[in-house]
Amino acid sequence: MKIFYNAKFWHKATFDNDIKAILTDNGKILKLLTALPENTRDYELIDLRGNYVYPGFIDTHTHSFEGGLYSLMIDLGGAKTLQDVFDLIAEGSKDKGKFVFAWNFDEQKIAEGRFPTRAELNAVVRAKNLVLRRVDGHSCIINSFACYNILSLLGKPHCDEEIFKGFDNDRAVHWFHNNIASNLILKAYHAASQIALKGGFTTIHTMVGDANRSIGHYSLIQENLDDFGVDYVLYPQSFNIEAALEVGAKRIGGCILADGALGSFTAALYEPYNGRPIRGNLYQTDSYWYDFITRAHQHNLQVGVHCIGDKAITQINSVYMALANSDFKDLRHQLIHCELTDDALINHIKASGAVPVMQPMFDKLWGGDNGFYAQVLGHERAQSMNRFATMLSRGIKITGSSDWYITELDIVKSLDAAMNHHNPAEALTAAQAIDIYTKNAAWLSHDEKIKGQLLPGLLADFTVLNYDLGKPGADKRVLATIKEGALLYEDL
Ligand SMILES: [Zn+2]
Ligand SMILES: [Zn+2]
Repeated sequence: MKIFYNAKFWHKATFDNDIKAILTDNGKILKLLTALPENTRDYELIDLRGNYVYPGFIDTHTHSFEGGLYSLMIDLGGAKTLQDVFDLIAEGSKDKGKFVFAWNFDEQKIAEGRFPTRAELNAVVRAKNLVLRRVDGHSCIINSFACYNILSLLGKPHCDEEIFKGFDNDRAVHWFHNNIASNLILKAYHAASQIALKGGFTTIHTMVGDANRSIGHYSLIQENLDDFGVDYVLYPQSFNIEAALEVGAKRIGGCILADGALGSFTAALYEPYNGRPIRGNLYQTDSYWYDFITRAHQHNLQVGVHCIGDKAITQINSVYMALANSDFKDLRHQLIHCELTDDALINHIKASGAVPVMQPMFDKLWGGDNGFYAQVLGHERAQSMNRFATMLSRGIKITGSSDWYITELDIVKSLDAAMNHHNPAEALTAAQAIDIYTKNAAWLSHDEKIKGQLLPGLLADFTVLNYDLGKPGADKRVLATIKEGALLYEDL
């Protein structure tokens, strides 16, 4: 048995000073102790040096395969010019085999303000497959070598189109992913697990599959689940209900797309984009979603769908609403991202019982008066983005996530973003911010009786931070991540 002591413990929405230690056995919390036992010889004592113990944090939406894989690949986040991009790719592609990924590209941060051309990419990587992916994942460009390899997949006669969006983007990227060997796939998940632990997470939900008909390497990961440090909650990210049922999945979906993204002007809006006569697009018809979600619901699968614009959120939530009325089941269907919502739509979500799976870091990166949201949506509508506090106040159980690799898998930054929303009316209190990454997050996967709080009988999953979230402080960091009583990451 182990005793974790000399710390403050987050218990029932506060740091409870009466709790002096936690006794664990076999990976579970046995007891919250108000004093250390007189005789401690029989216990393994773990001194947490006066720091702050939270329930192990849970990120409810990641693309960990891409995140882990990309951590092994080329990060263009630091590039300031196209020459930087070419240099990074040239250097990074040397040890990469036949498939080279470069990611985190943002033309708005590049002096030239544009994507590289295919000809420019060919000059850097001629005889390997290269994909360069935009920071939001919703567009990419590939070199000619790769393009000619996948022409039939794309259903195109030539490689004339430069930047791929929508289905072309998805097909191109998933083709790369599908051509990776099993050992590299497992390596990517191990890398992701390490990044998660370092970022303060003990559980992460992760999307597996091509967002079309394939559930990709789902079975491979399922068979190896015990080998990873973190708990992965797997989503067959696909429309293939039979395949999901065959592998025994409890859920289906993820970033299966109701619409695209604001950065590509493909998020579906009721009103046009700021200064542009376009409203984005719904990727599927109402009846398509009705049939798909209803069938999944009939098979007791929890459904998750990517929806960003108000029109897309309404489309998906309307199906959840119809099912809640006609055939209620406690499946906890998800509105992933759920970014643009006015009050009426929030009421509609409350009525359907759907769960918004949200990303505080989106506001951190793109909110604010001069932010990206204000540019593409106009100031007024930008106020209706990522409405964490309003949703919680209406009794909607939102959950927190990073959408990693889109934003960092880092609980310190995530909590900070949730509490410092650009719109003060949507900023969360410390207790609310913790809840969306612990209690609510555990509930989302029907694991509320297993994890998400520091309570006897639950898993001994803890995250140790060097600060009290409710108090201001500098140099905030993750000091330790403890999974089922085992210290898996430590920076004490
Ligand atoms: Zn996603
Ligand atoms: Zn998404």
